[in-house]
Amino acid sequence: MKTEKRLREVEMKENGMNCPDGHGKMVIKRIKKGIPFRGIHLAVPTYQYVCKVCGKEAGTVNQAADIQMAISEAYRKSVNLLTGKEIVEKRKKLNLTQESLAKRMNVGIASIKRWEGGTIQSKSMDRALRVALGDQSVGDSCTGNRAFSIPRIKLVLREFESILGKHILKKNDKMLFAAKYLWYADMIAHRETGESMTGSTYAALPYGPQLNNYKDLIDDIIKADESKAEPLSRRKKGLSPRLP
Ligand SMILES: [Zn+2]
Repeated sequence: MKTEKRLREVEMKENGMNCPDGHGKMVIKRIKKGIPFRGIHLAVPTYQYVCKVCGKEAGTVNQAADIQMAISEAYRKSVNLLTGKEIVEKRKKLNLTQESLAKRMNVGIASIKRWEGGTIQSKSMDRALRVALGDQSVGDSCTGNRAFSIPRIKLVLREFESILGKHILKKNDKMLFAAKYLWYADMIAHRETGESMTGSTYAALPYGPQLNNYKDLIDDIIKADESKAEPLSRRKKGLSPRLP
């Protein structure tokens, strides 16, 4: 939105403000404020009333809400998450409603509303958003020609658990074992069928492959509803008992 139009809108909304030191009406100014947030220093554009005489600054309730949104947008931009504005733009480009995007992602419509309105999504949810919004940077050959799916990860791990007769995924799990099973499953499935099982990406660590961003993913995986995942095909099921 153009700054001038925005300023007029804010002014109309707030009906102006007087300097507490009796210098009359204050003017609205756009200021970039340095705000520390989650360990990052953000330059956040804000609107504030400033006294032309003494320079005193004041904010209002509506402005505070605007600042919160601005912080969320600046933060998401700086850590490479989709901003609220980007989510709205990409969704509209695909002619999706908030409801249809929610359905695509197996999340509630409230989540979409929150992310578009300023709540910061987790890295795993950002990934799911990008997949649902057709972002080119995911779902390509590096993820094994399959869109990344957390419920699928849970489903594959459950399959392993039933084959091995033991629990793989525990609370506060570092995924040392789970990631290896997933990696084997994805690698072999990709080799045999041209498509991985979960669409995950992995880091090569000294003790073996680890799921990228596993710390962000672990809670979501444990909470995931595997019944929402696309079921494993007979062929893929057949691949797993051969795994170590
Ligand atoms: Zn003043």
